[in-house]
Amino acid sequence: MCFGVTTMALAHSENEVVTMLKAVGLRVTPQRDAILRHILVYRGHSSADDIYRSIHERWPNISVSTVYNTLKSFSEAGLVKEITFGDGASLFDANTYPHHHMLCVQCGQLTDFYLPEMPDLTSVAKELCFQIDECQLEVRGVCANCQDIMKS
Ligand code: ZN
Ligand code: MN
Repeated sequence: MCFGVTTMALAHSENEVVTMLKAVGLRVTPQRDAILRHILVYRGHSSADDIYRSIHERWPNISVSTVYNTLKSFSEAGLVKEITFGDGASLFDANTYPHHHMLCVQCGQLTDFYLPEMPDLTSVAKELCFQIDECQLEVRGVCANCQDIMKS
């Protein structure tokens, strides 16, 4: 998907990744280290496939399913947030802070956005006898880049 390459790479020393894994009780393995490091460096929203493709040259023994299972365990531990859109593949979001997404229907770019407060759905939920666990908005449209392309 969309990787915003930033200078975050410099901010994540080897020790930081190890500390994060240990903090959530995950044993430090080269695979976990490589996958978590990749997520922290590229931020954004990655599928298991995305990560597999970018690390398999350096880690040829890692399979897509290993990457997927590792991401699942990261998600359970709260290191990443798993999100799905429609019937698409799970994406793993480096941003674990509560937020919403704008999805570009042309290029698939996902952009995070924040609202000062969550919409209050208490009365709606009560009416439907629905127990809300979480609420994430997915806004569809066309990103600035694709609008420019369409104009030219
Ligand atoms: Zn776009
Ligand atoms: Mn996000």
